[in-house]
Order: sequence, then C-alpha cells, then structure tokens
Amino acid sequence: MPDDTVFRDALRNLDRAFQYADIHPEAIERLKHPKLSIEVTIPVRMDDGQMRIFRGYRVRHDDTRGPGKGGIRFHPEVDLSEVKALAFWMTCKCAVMNLPFGGAKGGVVVNPKELSPLELERLSRGFIQRVADFIGPETDVPAPDIYTNSMIMGWMADEYSKIRRQFTPAVITGKPIPLGGSLGREDATGRGAYYCLKEHEKQRGWHPQDVTVAIQGFGNAGQAIARLLDADGYNLVAVSDSSGGVYRKEGFHVPSLIQAKNERKKLESVYCRDGLCEVIESETLTNEELLELDVDILVPAALGNVITAENAARVRAATLVEVANGPVTPEADAILHEKGVFVIPDILANAGGVTVSYFEWVQNRTGLYWTEAEVHDRLRERVEREYWKIDELAQRHAIDRRAAAYVHALSRIGKALTAQGTEEYFRNGKR
Ligand code: GLU
Repeated sequence: MPDDTVFRDALRNLDRAFQYADIHPEAIERLKHPKLSIEVTIPVRMDDGQMRIFRGYRVRHDDTRGPGKGGIRFHPEVDLSEVKALAFWMTCKCAVMNLPFGGAKGGVVVNPKELSPLELERLSRGFIQRVADFIGPETDVPAPDIYTNSMIMGWMADEYSKIRRQFTPAVITGKPIPLGGSLGREDATGRGAYYCLKEHEKQRGWHPQDVTVAIQGFGNAGQAIARLLDADGYNLVAVSDSSGGVYRKEGFHVPSLIQAKNERKKLESVYCRDGLCEVIESETLTNEELLELDVDILVPAALGNVITAENAARVRAATLVEVANGPVTPEADAILHEKGVFVIPDILANAGGVTVSYFEWVQNRTGLYWTEAEVHDRLRERVEREYWKIDELAQRHAIDRRAAAYVHALSRIGKALTAQGTEEYFRNGKR
C-alpha cells in the first residue's frame, strides 16, 4: 500500500470542523474519497537523443459545486498522496471563496531546473496529451503551482486546443496575457494574502512601520507579498529561497532584492541607486532559522510541512500567514494554537490565486476582458468578505481560524451535496 499519510493528515480538518458545520455525515464521507485519481507516464525525448519517462498525476477531488480547479506542480517530491491532499484543499479553498468550482490538482515528478526549455515544453505538452480526456473548461481546469508558470500554461492550453481542434483558452488559467490570461493573475496569490493582512492589521491596530516580516520562499507569491507590504511601509527583515536566506535588522530594500533574485538567480541584499546596484551587508541564515525569528509576521511561501511538531514551539511570530499550501502539520498546528499564534490558514490566505483564475475563466468564456483595477477590486471585495465571515465563525464557536475556515467551506459544500438527497430523504422523503 503506498503511504497515504499526507492525504489522511489533510482530512483531519474535516473531523475537527464537522461538529460546527452545517453538513450531513454522508457528505463528509464523500469528501474523504477523491472522485478521480489518475497516474500517467510521459515519455520525453531529451536534447541528447535519449528518452526519459516521467510520472504524473491528476486528481479531481470533488466537482459538486462546479468543475475541478487546481494547479499542476513540477517537483521532484510530487507523490499521489500529496496531490490528493492538495486537491482536497482546492475543494475547500474554492468553497471558502464561494467560487463555482470543485477541487483538483496535478503534478509531475521532475526537477524542472534540470531541463532545457525545449525539454520542458515537450514534457508540458506530453502531460496534457495524457490527461486531455479528464480536463476541460466544464470538467477540470488546471493552473500554475510550484515550478510551473504562465509560459507552461500557454503551452498546455495550446496543446489542449490542438487535440480538440478548437481554441479553448478556458481549459487552463494562469496563461500569458496575449494568450487569454487575466491581468492581475501573476501576483494574485501574494495579493490575496496581502488583502488578508490589511484586514488583520485593523484587528491588531498595527502601524506598518512598526511591524517586522519574514518570508520563507521568494518565488511568485513570496515576491508579490513582499512588494505590497513594503510599499505600505512594513519592514521585511528576512527572506529565503531553496538555497538559504538573508537577514537584515534594518530591513531590506525590497525592489532591489527582487531584482537581484530574478536577475542573478540568488538572494543577496543589494542597494540600487541611479541604475547602479551594490551588494550590502546582511547576515545569512538557514530556512529553519528564518522560521524561528522574533518577527511580527511570518509568511511560509514555499513547500508544505515546514512547521512541524519539532520546531513549532520555537516559532516566535505573532501572526502566521500561510501563503504555501499546508506549511503546518496537524501536530504543529495544535502547538501554535496553544502558544496563541494567530494563523491565517492557507485555504483563505492563498486563495487569491484561484480567485483570479476564476476571473480568467469567466473572461475566457465571455470574451470580455477586464482592467487590472477591476480584477484587484473584485479580488479585494471577496477576500475581505470571507475574511470577516471566518473571523465571525471563529469568535462564535471559540475556535481557531483554520477550523473556522473549514466550517465555512464545509457548510457551503454540505449544502450542495445534500441538495442531491441524503439517506433520510430516500428513506422517508425528508431532507
Ligand atoms: N496553484 C494555486 C493554488 O494552490 C492556484 C490554483 C488555481 O489557480 O487554480 O491555489
């Protein structure tokens, strides 16, 4: 039996939230089993002539509220249990934001950094050839995730369109703008988390210039939230990527940090003036050390399971914003709760990405495209609304925000599932 721990761990939130949610036990049972899981193999001709076989997955966890929705990740550690957990989180995330989607996820076991651009294109197109019968604008709509980007989404949408012999941009979101992408999709995940923090700022009565921030992971989402918080005056004092991190008590000049990371492909603290950049003093630190810094806001924005039973007691941040999917294990979650750390959970904090994906899908289907300001306004409105609904549920039941977010999601999913009838209805004609 393959190890299914990651998925089983993810499901624990169902049982925790069940007692407070408006959901029938049958519906809970259904959510414990993904509707569809496929494993594919993708043969790719490498540049040196040899053929390599890659393994990939697509899981549609649930599609009661609409087509499956969720990203495709390219990473050496992708495994089926993790893809199932990620698909389950997508079901909950779409329900939290009240998007007319269920949840899905895909992944390919590969280190894309080792592939040439042509090999990456062949792999991306090959994946779509394998899963084409299981995706579509009305069935399951993929998007980017870790180590996949808009260019890859463009290749994938093109491959699907070729197979169907029809221009079908709505099959995939997160595409480049000229190929039917939406304005505002690129930074949407980080922006959604930033909008959550702006509401949280009101709760705390924070003045941004007094607040320190550490971000683990400096990819798309990490950079976006860094840029937005910096523009408001927050102090970014530490940041890391997969190779390690940098710390500077006085805070970083965020635009030049982003520039250095993207141009030189590594993190170093630089200061830029009149087009001239110089490397400036900063301390280096490991990813583990970053998580334990004495900061106000900690933002895990990389992989899952980074805060565990082993290090949770050493987390000193007052607020933790889960930009990554599943960065805190269930055991660690209990410890953080005990310590009084305010956790803004992933299914709310990083839902900005899928929300703007939804906007992209709507624009593709209507053929009417929105301005960036419209996208931002609509995103902000949804994040604010759901943030406060979850806050209200947390207060009402005296539970943490993660449990409250699940209660919120499950109540919406529960209504959809029970509208199709439950045991009581079929036995006695009652709902
Ligand atoms: N991969 C992102 C997530 O985990 C975005 C999914 C989407 O846009 O469908 O939320």
